[in-house]
Amino acid sequence: MTATTLGSLLYEGKAKRVFATDQSDVVAVEYKDDATAFNALKKAQLVGKGELNCQISARLFELLERNGIPTHYRALQKANWMLVRPMRIVPVEVVVRNTAFGSLCKQMPIEPGTPLDPPLLDLYYKDDAYGDPLLTDARLERLALLSADQRREMGRLAMAVNTCLRSFFADIGLQLVDFKIELGFSAEGELVVADEISPDTCRLWDLKVGDSSDRILDKDRFRQDLGGVVEAYGEVLKRVQGACPPPRLCK
Ligand code: 5GP
Repeated sequence: MTATTLGSLLYEGKAKRVFATDQSDVVAVEYKDDATAFNALKKAQLVGKGELNCQISARLFELLERNGIPTHYRALQKANWMLVRPMRIVPVEVVVRNTAFGSLCKQMPIEPGTPLDPPLLDLYYKDDAYGDPLLTDARLERLALLSADQRREMGRLAMAVNTCLRSFFADIGLQLVDFKIELGFSAEGELVVADEISPDTCRLWDLKVGDSSDRILDKDRFRQDLGGVVEAYGEVLKRVQGACPPPRLCK
């Protein structure tokens, strides 16, 4: 991957900025230190979070690719910047749950911590104005964002990501409770994993710690005002680093 020159800002989200580059098939993503929760009602600056999420995501995207799962990732550029392929993002949040927690337990009579076997796939329409509502198959079909084949492919990809990440995290002493991914279409029309994979988007519990909030190593520390957010993300990076080769660097 050769060096790129930064172009104009294409998009700014809550946690990342996307810039054009001098190469039409590459965009640059800056991971920000901004933390938001509850549809941005809660906000903070967490110094170091952007770099930690970028470093974790780079290694996890490469892990997925080694396991045959296509992603938008090209290379790490700087501490909190990565280069990715430009995508047409599908406005659907794809959530896979291995253990009941979070919104599931607020919306259904199910005890937090209940194992979910097989894992549960939940799809949400990604639009803050509507509060990211849960989608039914019929609503997803009505939105006409994906063909029937693409909807099946989305479910297949989500489950493949879960199988790969769940076993990887278990090997480094982390329970993958649930996670959210976003998918996009590449210029060639391939559906691939995009956005980020980090403690902002995954619930990760330390398997060495018992049933207490001390085991939480993800964004729930911010959502629940538990403190130690950056330290928890740092612990996740330390374990991920120990189990992955160094990521590809843009020269
Ligand atoms: P829940 O539906 O319980 O709120 O979230 C399920 C999983 O998806 C959690 O790992 C959570 O972090 C992730 N998730 C769901 N929606 C979002 C979102 O809008 N932003 C982020 N960063 N993660 C989300």
